[in-house]
Amino acid sequence: MTDSKVQDLQDMSDLVSLAKRRGFVFPSSEIYGGINACWDYGPLGIEVKRNIKERWWKSMTLRQDIEGLDAAILMHPRVWEASGHVDGFVDPLVDCKVCKGRFREDKLDETPCGKKPSKKAGEFSECQLTEPRQFNLMFKTHMGPLEDSSSVVYLRPETAQGIFVNFLNVQQSMRKKIPFGIAQIGKSFRNEITPGNFIFRTREFEQMEMQYFVKPGTDEDWFEKWKEIRLQWHLNNGIRASKLRFHEHGPNELAHYAKQAFDIEYELPFGWQELEGVHNRTDFDLGRHQEFSGKKLEYFDDQTKEHYLPYVVETAVGCDRSVLVVLADAYRNDGERIFLSLHPEIAPYKIAVFPLMKKPDLLEYSDKLVMDLEAKGYRVTSDESGSIGKRYRRQDEIGTPFGVTIDYDTLTDNTVTIRNRDTMEQERVSFEKVSSFIEEKIKAWKPVE
Ligand code: ATP
Repeated sequence: MTDSKVQDLQDMSDLVSLAKRRGFVFPSSEIYGGINACWDYGPLGIEVKRNIKERWWKSMTLRQDIEGLDAAILMHPRVWEASGHVDGFVDPLVDCKVCKGRFREDKLDETPCGKKPSKKAGEFSECQLTEPRQFNLMFKTHMGPLEDSSSVVYLRPETAQGIFVNFLNVQQSMRKKIPFGIAQIGKSFRNEITPGNFIFRTREFEQMEMQYFVKPGTDEDWFEKWKEIRLQWHLNNGIRASKLRFHEHGPNELAHYAKQAFDIEYELPFGWQELEGVHNRTDFDLGRHQEFSGKKLEYFDDQTKEHYLPYVVETAVGCDRSVLVVLADAYRNDGERIFLSLHPEIAPYKIAVFPLMKKPDLLEYSDKLVMDLEAKGYRVTSDESGSIGKRYRRQDEIGTPFGVTIDYDTLTDNTVTIRNRDTMEQERVSFEKVSSFIEEKIKAWKPVE
């Protein structure tokens, strides 16, 4: 559709309210007033999230050179000393003595201030910002009944370390040869100073990370390859190319472990933001774990008879951030309706079935169609209340790509009307052809620019 009236998401609050109203994402512990920046995925949100995770997992593990892993969240505390997180995983925290706000010094430009008329933190004329203090972002807890310094453990701030400490376990048990990768999806926790923007930055979030172990010297080539593969993954999710770009980290942005880093950024209503990081971590992590654990972590190449520590190219994407980007990118307002132009394979329901009236013969036919489609593996919803126009709108808002209407003609000629969410075009199709028709449309689907 090239209609210039069609508008993208302009304001995050429109997405937040749609997400709540239609069962995608709810504020956590809402009946107690909520808890800052924590969110619960509702019935439709969890479908989107699971579909995204499934697509990522398949893209990583349906190939010969990558294995999966699910490491524990709680790890030996020495892991975080070796990784550099105990000393270095800090953000500069500043307080404002006037408005009592707490801000990240490096994000003052993007952080709203409570004091009017200022829009940004520190902009208000009477603002008195303190000198920055280094604030460690790791959540601490205690293991066992004693709450002393010997029992401190951390909630992992990234999933990557579970992969590094299992490097040899995976390599040896699966008899992998370099280059190979290890993929993992799991929760991470960061005590962010300024979380916010819905599920963009939260303190508990899920990451989808893959560490690819390569021979030193081949790392730069692999880095380029993974950059392109990862950009393509987002495009395959239906994200418009015009909204994605690379951002290379300059020397001041590079993390302590990185030789080179690119972010894949997406343009949200609040600006271009990091969606995924692709990092060349060198042999930093394996080297540090080798040093701190005293265990050799070298790889032995039985052809060249060399022992070496591999370099690591990492791809790290937030699952929640992917959900946000998928929803934000799909959001359209054409003046008459709001619709989510979601990739059909990511949409919570593929098909909505509408019996035109609540009449027994139409309902019976509709039940039969729903069962038939479910047996073929489609997630289907049916809606029999309200005008057909209203029912279309409800499905548009949750991104159901196809609506199938059963009317009186259906009972005589065995045909139904299939409506396309994006184009609103309607076609008459026979009962037996419904699933193959939809399958073809799903395969041919392209995002609405
Ligand atoms: P930022 O600079 O935004 O704090 P980062 O560069 O520290 O992020 P990484 O450590 O590279 O992020 O994490 C990889 C990915 O994990 C990010 O690209 C993002 O998608 C996701 N992520 C990181 N922190 C959060 C968070 N607090 N909430 C949600 N997702 C996050």
